[in-house]
Amino acid sequence: MRRIYLDNAATTKTSKTVIKATLPYMEEIYGNPSSLHSAGQKAAEALANARNTVAAYLDASEREITFTSGGSEADNQAILSAAAIGVRKGKKHVVSTAFEHHAVLHTLEKLKKQGFEVTLLPVSENGLITAKQVENAIRPDTCLVTVMYANNEIGTIQPIAEIGAVCREKGVIFHTDAVQAVGHLPIDVQRENIDMLSLSAHKFHGPKGVGALYVRKGIPLTGLIEGGAQERGKRAGTENIPAIVGMAVALEEACKNRAKSSEKLKKLRDMLIDGLSKIPHSVLNGDREKRLPANVSFCFEGIEGESLLLLLDDKGICASSGSACTSGSLDPSHVLLAIGRVHDIAHGSLRLTLSEENTEEEIEYTIEAVKEVVAYLRGMSPIWRDLMNGKKEFIIK
Ligand SMILES: *Cc1c(COP(=O)(O)O)cnc(C)c1O
Repeated sequence: MRRIYLDNAATTKTSKTVIKATLPYMEEIYGNPSSLHSAGQKAAEALANARNTVAAYLDASEREITFTSGGSEADNQAILSAAAIGVRKGKKHVVSTAFEHHAVLHTLEKLKKQGFEVTLLPVSENGLITAKQVENAIRPDTCLVTVMYANNEIGTIQPIAEIGAVCREKGVIFHTDAVQAVGHLPIDVQRENIDMLSLSAHKFHGPKGVGALYVRKGIPLTGLIEGGAQERGKRAGTENIPAIVGMAVALEEACKNRAKSSEKLKKLRDMLIDGLSKIPHSVLNGDREKRLPANVSFCFEGIEGESLLLLLDDKGICASSGSACTSGSLDPSHVLLAIGRVHDIAHGSLRLTLSEENTEEEIEYTIEAVKEVVAYLRGMSPIWRDLMNGKKEFIIK
């Protein structure tokens, strides 16, 4: 059976170029970059080149890049480092948003147990926050603002440059979880006044289990792992050279193709949005314009997301109901609740995230498949019957 992969926000297919580029770093250049002999120095050279590539993409300096095991670790380290600075200055307040990734939200929960106060800004119905909200929330004791660049469930892009400007003016450290944005949007940490930024390779066709944390010069990092002096003492453990090389190659590839790829993706995305909007009592989640080129997110009234996913899988379509981390639990997505979807509606969610490999023909097939499955599930649903015979009011008109 054909398989249509539409879950690129959860993870992407590793690019062939990336796989090819990583193999020599297992087969031949397998030295430890901390070793002084030539085999080690070859690995150290690859590490330095990869660091330059990541730095150049962000308009940072190579000294400001620390490699990590991925986006989650980078988020944890950024937030805990800013908190440690805050403790030293007697500042224990953090500003963030209600729809961050759990790598951020759960780290903030941890800080609360250590006596921090956390302000989670409410998100508008179209999935955006404003720089004004951030400005109003900053207090004299605020040590960190952390706002995601683009949301992983509904794809909305936040006004990062404006938020950066506010934080810079107020002298507060600004971190952004840019895991969904890196490789897909142009990012410039200077122009956007970003002090810390998290990224992850497997969201832009690189290997899994590798990422990076950018930290502006002068901001000290707190290590999460005790051990050797790798990564200039900021992250202990022998560097994962094949994965780091793969990440750099994936980033270069993503940048080279970005403009063209973005145009193609937006066309497919808009086709999918227009097609799914024709389903009665459906609603697009997140702003139509300020969204990632590859993100489509919908709620359908009167259905249950889990059954929708299973039936789509039977038709060869790999989709998601929201974030990969919450699927499997019956709690509705905190992101959909944050934009004001009530529980019943949030349960009927569908996220389709595209890649360059998808075709118009696949999108047409997907629109028909979703229409069929939604109609089928509604046909069996007692809630839908109540809605149709007027016993219950529609929420999505
Ligand atoms: C995927 C993702 C993460 C986690 O990254 P990992 O590399 O899987 O740990 C964090 N934040 C966002 C927004 C993500 O989409």
